[in-house]
Amino acid sequence: MKRLKILLLASLLLLLGAGQLLAATPKYVFYFIGDGLGASQRQVAEYYAQQVAANPRLKLAMNQMPVVGINTTYSSDTLVTDSAAAGTALATGYKTNNGIISELPDGRVVKSLMEAAREQGWATGIATTTRLTHATPAVFAAHNISRDAENEIAADMADSGVDYLVGGGFRHFVKQGGAFKSKRKDSRDLVMEMADSGYQTFVGEQAAGSFLAYKPQANAKVFAALNYSHMPYELDRINAQDSQSPALSAMVEKGIEVLQSHHQPFFFMVEAGRIDHACHANDIAGSIYDTLALDDAVKVALKFYQQYPEETLIVLVGDHETGGLGLGFAKNYFLKMTAVQATKASIEDVMDKVYTGDVDAYLRIVAERFGLADMTPVEKQRLIAAAKQQDTGAKDAALYGSYSPTQVAVAHILSERANVEWTTFAHTGTQIPMGAVGVGAMQFMGFKDNTEIARTLADLLHFQLSDVQVAMAQ
Ligand SMILES: [Zn+2]
Repeated sequence: MKRLKILLLASLLLLLGAGQLLAATPKYVFYFIGDGLGASQRQVAEYYAQQVAANPRLKLAMNQMPVVGINTTYSSDTLVTDSAAAGTALATGYKTNNGIISELPDGRVVKSLMEAAREQGWATGIATTTRLTHATPAVFAAHNISRDAENEIAADMADSGVDYLVGGGFRHFVKQGGAFKSKRKDSRDLVMEMADSGYQTFVGEQAAGSFLAYKPQANAKVFAALNYSHMPYELDRINAQDSQSPALSAMVEKGIEVLQSHHQPFFFMVEAGRIDHACHANDIAGSIYDTLALDDAVKVALKFYQQYPEETLIVLVGDHETGGLGLGFAKNYFLKMTAVQATKASIEDVMDKVYTGDVDAYLRIVAERFGLADMTPVEKQRLIAAAKQQDTGAKDAALYGSYSPTQVAVAHILSERANVEWTTFAHTGTQIPMGAVGVGAMQFMGFKDNTEIARTLADLLHFQLSDVQVAMAQ
């Protein structure tokens, strides 16, 4: 009896192994990128979710993926990458210098997975919480020697043929002098051009409702730029009385509808772009909420995967870590997640406007919206000192990054209360955890470089990436 059981188990394992070897090509691919999503960002969001749910066993969906890998992120010119170089690696399989969008340092263009997908007749989609022209979405549908050339990147994206484009940053797509404020310097109206080539277009926050209500017909193409710049932080979105902005998860749901209307395989890149922004600002609550919003979006893809388990692959990566977020500080052995639970607004977008010279109003708003109603005399003194610094017009990158003294004071008081600490207002060079589930997921296991993720995807999907000779770095 025992022997029979062992025999059965052995043949089952053999079958599973053969299944891996004969791995089918996934038909539906979700490529999630958390910008700034390092190990600490993932873990602190999970601890926070456990605290809120009063369930110490709760796990994020992203932390339950069966296949896990670790990735290096360095770029061609520095060990600390930016999102343009990291995105280029994740999209094309090639290293480049910081600041470059899917080109080599010498300007040669390298093809993205999304462009390779289109060559094969796949439907393609991009959803992001940043401007569509920001580095991570850009590397999939544009090529430029500079990530700052967002008007040119917008033109590339408008011409890219990508079937579903949703995010913020209409300012680079709308024409000058029209109903919406534009940053374009030429006379092009990219929204009109896309509408003429068959896109259903949605522009501005007021269009969010019709975007969400939109029901795609066959072979639908959608362009939705729902904000002047980035989409709001999740923390601000859920606490704003009148915000119509969709959650990232809703952008993924709509994307699935649009991509499925093509009755073809699809390749869908989803970026949670503002985890990075929050961490630049050392905003612990902002980082947590945008990470949880990404997790909600992952859950939408997992639901799809459960419907099509034999045909779906979900890969989730970070492009780099931001902030040098440390979960623990000095000689203390604790993290206190309740310390940020009363925070209702972001450091970058909201705190930026709080102090206007009126110290009493500023202290009141910080107490009400940033969870410091019980501020200690020492904390109050710090906040007042920061306001005085701001009055002098103090700008000191070492002390404040690109933020104001009052923004940094509030961010750091909240971080200290939670006992988390930041080493920088920029990125770090630490390794990044990734996860995968579905068809071919096993291929991503292990310690890899970020370029290998793109190459593994290309191999698995039978996509042709660029084949160019690159001189080895000295
Ligand atoms: Zn960044």
